[in-house]
Amino acid sequence: MKRPVLACLALLAVSACLPAASQRRVPAVEYRNGHWFDGARFVDRTMWGVGDRFSETAPTGTGTVTVVDLRGGFVVPPYAEGHNHWLEPALVDAYIQTYLRDGVFYVQDQGTSPKSHDAMRAALGAPTSVDFVSAHQGFTGPGGHPMELIDQLAAMGILPADWATTHGEGEALFAVASEADVDRAWPKLLAGRPDFVKLFLVHSDEYAARRDDRTLTPRQRGLDPALVPAIVRRAHAANLRVSAHIEDAHDFHVAVAGGVDEIAHLPFVSADAPDAYLLDDADCEAAGRRKVSISTTFDFLGDAPGPRQLEVARANLRNLQRHGVLIAIGTDLFRQTPRVEVERIARFHLLTNLEILVAWAVTTPQVIFPGRKIGRLADRYEASFLVLGADPLRDPANLEHIVDRVKRGRAVVPGPETLPPLGR
Ligand SMILES: [Zn+2]
Repeated sequence: MKRPVLACLALLAVSACLPAASQRRVPAVEYRNGHWFDGARFVDRTMWGVGDRFSETAPTGTGTVTVVDLRGGFVVPPYAEGHNHWLEPALVDAYIQTYLRDGVFYVQDQGTSPKSHDAMRAALGAPTSVDFVSAHQGFTGPGGHPMELIDQLAAMGILPADWATTHGEGEALFAVASEADVDRAWPKLLAGRPDFVKLFLVHSDEYAARRDDRTLTPRQRGLDPALVPAIVRRAHAANLRVSAHIEDAHDFHVAVAGGVDEIAHLPFVSADAPDAYLLDDADCEAAGRRKVSISTTFDFLGDAPGPRQLEVARANLRNLQRHGVLIAIGTDLFRQTPRVEVERIARFHLLTNLEILVAWAVTTPQVIFPGRKIGRLADRYEASFLVLGADPLRDPANLEHIVDRVKRGRAVVPGPETLPPLGR
């Protein structure tokens, strides 16, 4: 090995711009003086990056090895967002920089229009950007959720104004009442190249009554539960995973029995009848057996949840964990990052500090990109990580104390762009 060259992380970004002649060999980096998260604890060790991958041993034959001193920092895999919606392609750079600042390198959009996704594709996935997957038009029932949100966002000028009359039909969702309706929508769905398929269950035990009750709003209606297996069959035949919006324990049962791969929410445990939202043990077991994942989206608790409401939310989480269901951090709050979700989880002690770190930095990335070697700081995994200034297992607030960010061997320095506050 040649004499090591000391460098700071920011210089790694510059080294990527060196002329091709000096890059004949794969660039290698030795990371010294870090505490590395091994999935359960922090271990003091030296790690190497060779090209865009980690090596647990010193590389040989790579020429100059750049040495980076991590100065006693705590190294964790980058964070991920399991449930949000990027609906504003004109602001994509502000979304990307905001997420990168918060250490979030991987994003799963649970539903944006194919046009919005196409307008953002060029900005996404680069070594210094966010890796992004998205569902497109979700399947709901006639007059169902999320039409009320589409109408609202169209009125705010965030979605196209004419969607206020179409409620986004064919662009943002498909309202279907039969398998024939699904078949009619299917070619248009696939033509937009979604990364996975979304469907909406809203108190599906009352599907027909709610569909026919004109006093209800779209917020209270969803897809016919009988159509779930038909949608899953078509999606899986097209190599697409399926994510289900659910609201109560029956929706969870319908989704799991129907073969979906992801659940987009924990049950929205209500303050007035919390016990009606307790998940069934057999459903949790069935979900765990198939390694189904679930996004937390604890916004339903608000800022002052009732004691029983909190107990039921905790009991559901424990039941899912006990059966091996994958707990993903998901926020589902417009123009927010999962930082607010993690803060809420920590504030109400819904997960331990270790469980928060594992969910955010290990499970969620692996749920979003099951085929990639991410979420671990180990041999041959992608050399992507965050350096924290203090131990997040002592205090989860340290998860936000990000000193450096590296993605696939290259330093990431977020730009200053921010998202405008709502109601601008
Ligand atoms: Zn959502």
